[in-house]
Amino acid sequence: MRTVLITGASRGIGAQCARRFAEKEYRVVINYNSSEKQAADLADELKKAGSDVCTVKADVSSSEEVNRMFARINDDYGGADILVNNAGIAQTKLFTDLTDEDWDKMLSTNLSSAFYCCRAALPYMIRNHFGRIINISSMWGQVGGSCEVHYSAAKAGIIGLTKALAMEEGLSGITVNCIAPGVIKTDMLSSFTKEDLQALKDETPTGTLGTPDDIARAAVFLADDSSSFITGQVLGINGGFVV
Ligand code: NAP
Repeated sequence: MRTVLITGASRGIGAQCARRFAEKEYRVVINYNSSEKQAADLADELKKAGSDVCTVKADVSSSEEVNRMFARINDDYGGADILVNNAGIAQTKLFTDLTDEDWDKMLSTNLSSAFYCCRAALPYMIRNHFGRIINISSMWGQVGGSCEVHYSAAKAGIIGLTKALAMEEGLSGITVNCIAPGVIKTDMLSSFTKEDLQALKDETPTGTLGTPDDIARAAVFLADDSSSFITGQVLGINGGFVV
């Protein structure tokens, strides 16, 4: 049974990834930071459906906490065969108002976290000559989002990390890919008004917003054994917003 670690799986896209991987009979490690109850409820839901699931609390912006999380996964299951770097935060603010703290928090949560998790996951993957790393970027990392410069910079960094690491690990049987979602209906959009959301819909060629399941299904596809020739790619799932 393959083990998948999904960071930030207590809510939103990560939680739906957990459901889809569990359905495909992966063992699922649900990482969360503050939403303990949501993580526990999700684990119960999946266990009731017969899945092998556990939760691990770790703030993935801290290398110490990431290393502790992997020590536990390595002890319990040998390691993680599949890593979905999904945890993230957003903030809308004028560039000139950004503080050092805003910048550091954004970069550590959305970019350094992927570095810490990949570094901790790789020794086991390399030993096994198999691994799948799926990084969740954003279309704003591809084209840049106004009032989201720090978010865009972190998500563009994820794309660079993905491409470079894919080259380094290609001969080790490990693929590294990235999903760049468009506007997806989750708590991350909670600060948007109805009018904002309508405007985003109107700008999207499909005339719709995405769902967590649009992303989760793609993550499961990239994790599959049969996806071994797909690496270093950025898969845009955005209703045609960015082409
Ligand atoms: P969400 O509903 O706000 O969920 C965010 C998740 O990240 C939560 O499970 C949260 O866990 C976790 N998280 C945040 N900081 C963390 C930390 N320091 N350590 C561990 N976990 C942490 O957001 P979402 O929309 O599902 O976003 C998931 C990913 O997709 C993010 O990387 C986001 O940037 C990306 N994305 C989203 C959209 C969108 O429109 N929704 C578009 C493009 C890209 P706790 O609550 O337990 O802290």
